[in-house]
Amino acid sequence: TPPFDVERVRSSFDFVGQGRVATNNAASTQLPRELLQLYGELVPQYENVHRGQSDASVRMTARFEAAFDTIADWIGAPSRRTISIHRNTTEAINLVMYTLLTEFRDGDNVVTTMMEHNSDYVPWYALCHEILPRFGRRVECRIARFDHETGALDLDDLAELVDDRTKLVCCTGASNFLGTKPPLPEVRRIADSSGYPQPNGERRSWLLVDGAQLVPSALVDVEALDVEFLAFSFHKFLAPLGVGVLYAKEHLRRGSLPFLYGGDMIAEGRVTPDRVEYNALPWKFSAGTPNILGVVASAEALRLTIDLTGADPGRTWFRSADRIPRAISGAAMARIAAHTTSLTQRAIASLSTIPRLRVFGVPQGEVRAPLVAFTVEGLSPFAIAAALNTRGVESRAGCHCATLAHHDLGLDPPASCRLSFYLYNSTDDVDRAVEAVRAAVAVTTG
Ligand code: PMP
Repeated sequence: TPPFDVERVRSSFDFVGQGRVATNNAASTQLPRELLQLYGELVPQYENVHRGQSDASVRMTARFEAAFDTIADWIGAPSRRTISIHRNTTEAINLVMYTLLTEFRDGDNVVTTMMEHNSDYVPWYALCHEILPRFGRRVECRIARFDHETGALDLDDLAELVDDRTKLVCCTGASNFLGTKPPLPEVRRIADSSGYPQPNGERRSWLLVDGAQLVPSALVDVEALDVEFLAFSFHKFLAPLGVGVLYAKEHLRRGSLPFLYGGDMIAEGRVTPDRVEYNALPWKFSAGTPNILGVVASAEALRLTIDLTGADPGRTWFRSADRIPRAISGAAMARIAAHTTSLTQRAIASLSTIPRLRVFGVPQGEVRAPLVAFTVEGLSPFAIAAALNTRGVESRAGCHCATLAHHDLGLDPPASCRLSFYLYNSTDDVDRAVEAVRAAVAVTTG
């Protein structure tokens, strides 16, 4: 039995009852009704933040700023000063690339992995192959392999690639294709072993974790993991589109150039023709009018996650305090992981009985992201996805932006079909999805 009442969870989502089997959650999760109601509630109080003296503006500002605290608390960050809000994970990782641009020395390298989403590979490719060469600097982009059988990151290869010129290691927290989660403490240890002399006196490679699939599936503690950077997107965590988060250690933010320049990222009144003073953190990284409602809704999505999974039933979720005790958020995420892991295991077990079907990434209990990608010999992943769609089953065919891994596995065409689960999925969803795959395969084999 699931660790929470899945039917009660489903009653918050309007896609239920439309005949949709919503199993493309690794792309984006569905929107709960409570968050749409929240938008309705905020409309009569609508105002910009940091840009007005009305009661409405002051209230909205307080709510917006409190959302930073909630988000920081959720990932174990020490303060809102370590958080900046962007459009998505992709923009957050690009921020790191652009703000470190000036710091790479000739002969340095950046180490990433073959499991990365394009948003954690293409920026480093561009940095090394396109941007820095224009400044006459040669920086190498190295790519650590993964085990083709298990889908696990090859830590020996990673350790071999990291050396005393490795400024930065970039690693996914969970692969959106293989489902595997690299052991981040090990990755940290390898990044530490480099002894790379950072400009702030530290002797270690900095570590960036792409948390897009990790943060919605497990409670993350940035201080315990000791990562320099963590990026994730709220649209994979129940919230509306358009909100990405970058956690960065405060001393790195203080020492860094801003990313975007303009309004609100400067200290009030401190712009003259020959001198510009930047705003205090976190607003130094908040140029221009932000996605205010999206940020407020994202913090509420975290509270809703707790309420939906029954950690504190009966609480009026969007009026609760800003700070969420870790024990409560941890309990909610453990329940989600237990449920989605069992759905994933069920899916993998049944899919594996289908002839000619290959599942990628070996199941590893709760240390696996709640998704399964597969191919069927002689059948296009796109044809499978289209066949599933005719039965209301939502999937994704293609590379899922994990293009390096598809090529590395020799998939021709470089594509797979993926099902991915979240807290509102039921065992019935899984069974319907797998039956649809079975039917698609049966049709082509006659
Ligand atoms: N990294 C991973 C592992 C992802 O799954 C995704 C989303 N597919 C991203 C990065 C990019 O997220 P976004 O599209 O929100 O920038």
